[in-house]
Amino acid sequence: MQTINSAPSEALTLKVNEIFYSVQGEGSFALYPCVFVRLTGCNLRCAWCDTTYSFYEGNQQTLTQIADQVNAWPAELVEITGGEPLLQRNIYPLFERLHASGKKVLLETSGSLTIERVPGFVHIVLDMKTPGSGEHEKNRYENLDLMKATDDLKIVISGLEDFEFAEQLIMKHQIHKKLQRPVIVQPEFGRLEPAVVAEWVKAAQVPMRLGLQLHKYIYEPSLRAV
Ligand code: SF4
Repeated sequence: MQTINSAPSEALTLKVNEIFYSVQGEGSFALYPCVFVRLTGCNLRCAWCDTTYSFYEGNQQTLTQIADQVNAWPAELVEITGGEPLLQRNIYPLFERLHASGKKVLLETSGSLTIERVPGFVHIVLDMKTPGSGEHEKNRYENLDLMKATDDLKIVISGLEDFEFAEQLIMKHQIHKKLQRPVIVQPEFGRLEPAVVAEWVKAAQVPMRLGLQLHKYIYEPSLRAV
């Protein structure tokens, strides 16, 4: 009997919330043109979630339909995000398909599911959760050992307690010695002033960098698909 993952890509589907072309707003590829594939569904309910529409909305699309939309734009970068994209097992053949078509593939994942099967060519943005999110107990810390040196670790914070949590996490796991670039500490948009976090980052005991959701400064913050 043929398994789902050995089926031709025309038969494989993913539930897709939206596919759009914009500039990357976050992380090491910030401000590069990028196609976003947002998959439906999330196993977390973070207090500050700005994509709650991704929890249920969407339709099943074949890998070919997804790849055709991605390839319709000239960007080299494509980010698969959510929701939590690793919830859908057909993401793995999608990684291969997009990589084979010459794209640089990024994955944004919460760190609550294992990244052990994510191929080495994928740039992972691991979004570990702090107490302010209400979901930090779902963090799978073994993912920190599975990250490549070139990947990004991002930690969203809503206050000083979260910042100190991030600092302790970095020190405990010596993450600054494993990753090529410092951990991104990103203030919750609209709640915590970037200038305040900039001062905390400057005084931190371990290397960090300030992250901002730049798309919310370029475009109207409540807009979708930007
Ligand atoms: S992991 Fe992301 S999509 Fe899921 S609830 Fe948290 S912020 Fe929202």
